[in-house]
Amino acid sequence: MNQSQAWIERNDKVITKTYGRYPLVPVRGQGCLVWDVDGREYLDLLAGVAVNILGHCAPKVVAAIKAQAETLIHCSNYYNIPQQIRLAELLCENSFAERVFFCNSGAEANEAALKLARKYSRETHGANRAEILTANASFHGRTFAGISATGQDKIKEGFAPLVPGFRHFPFGDIDALRATVGPETCAIMLEPIQGEGGVNIPPAGYLKQVRELCDEQHLLLILDEVQTGCGRTGSLFAYEQEGMLPDIMTLAKGLANGVPIGAMLARDSLAAHLGPGSHGSTFGGNPLATAAGVATLETLLHEGILANCRASGAYLQAELERLARKYPFIAAVRGRGLMIGVELSIEGGELVKAALQRGLLINCTVGKVLRFVPPLIITRKEIDRAMCVLDEIFAEVV
Ligand SMILES: *Cc1c(COP(=O)(O)O)cnc(C)c1O
Repeated sequence: MNQSQAWIERNDKVITKTYGRYPLVPVRGQGCLVWDVDGREYLDLLAGVAVNILGHCAPKVVAAIKAQAETLIHCSNYYNIPQQIRLAELLCENSFAERVFFCNSGAEANEAALKLARKYSRETHGANRAEILTANASFHGRTFAGISATGQDKIKEGFAPLVPGFRHFPFGDIDALRATVGPETCAIMLEPIQGEGGVNIPPAGYLKQVRELCDEQHLLLILDEVQTGCGRTGSLFAYEQEGMLPDIMTLAKGLANGVPIGAMLARDSLAAHLGPGSHGSTFGGNPLATAAGVATLETLLHEGILANCRASGAYLQAELERLARKYPFIAAVRGRGLMIGVELSIEGGELVKAALQRGLLINCTVGKVLRFVPPLIITRKEIDRAMCVLDEIFAEVV
């Protein structure tokens, strides 16, 4: 028995089965490559689900983590934390926002956003305006408010009663959204491009129309950029390409290149509704996570990573379109930057397994959309290597 099999047997005995895990035991990573416990190499086009934006073990992030670990790992948010302050400054200098609340995950960032929206609305419009609208096929995390906000029935299944005050609308249809807004609505929350829902891109101008609707109806606009943020779509934040600004934005996945972190950003006048004692997090924004965040963001902003994301993204998308012309079971290729989906007319799960066997890590979401969210540093050569593998496994589909 090889070491991988031994670990998989132990996994099956002690780990809660919330994930259907592929038979891979990764133990080391560098750039776009990872190695399993038996020494086999894999090209990683999933990157921890859009997390390792600078690749595995990016040297500057590793150095920042090492230095911070030797200095101060955790203290408390009762005190002022220089790395946290620096990361907030970087985020505010490079976005619409003026204040940042730090937490440890995307779900927690969305919790903070939803709590802020409700508190602002109560203090501004009274108690009867607490409803939040979110899109069909959206994904906003696994906490109770997260699954209540998420527009996918399978994610809510078995957990009722859910948090009240959420209703859903069809994504990408401004008239349908306008018709969904009611007298109790206080906010609209949506992903600029839906990730878990199948890499769904709304029609051009949609986000601007949502912004106008929010202004007209005095609603807050919350953008969940947990997946689209941190350079994924070719700009630091996806909203920058939409000619509009949100009221609240949430970030997580790529923000510290793999160290758990989440952030909720807003302008000062709005953030002021969360005063001392109203919300908090023991670990949120701790020195270790925010030191990793500062190193990640500084690298992302200064080393041509965004330009590489745009160029490699265009190349990867063009290469996938080439395969789409060759294989009729590919129904559509869509994406922005390095967030790309390949919609199939067949189930994608077996293709993911076949890719893994040939040393390529990809993912399939909503059963039939292959998702590519590689490190933003990926090169053409690495993309070519991935395309060879895909061509081989697609050719075997009968
Ligand atoms: C991944 C994701 C989340 C949840 O983030 P966690 O860190 O897993 O809690 C929320 N929203 C979007 C858009 C995501 O992609």
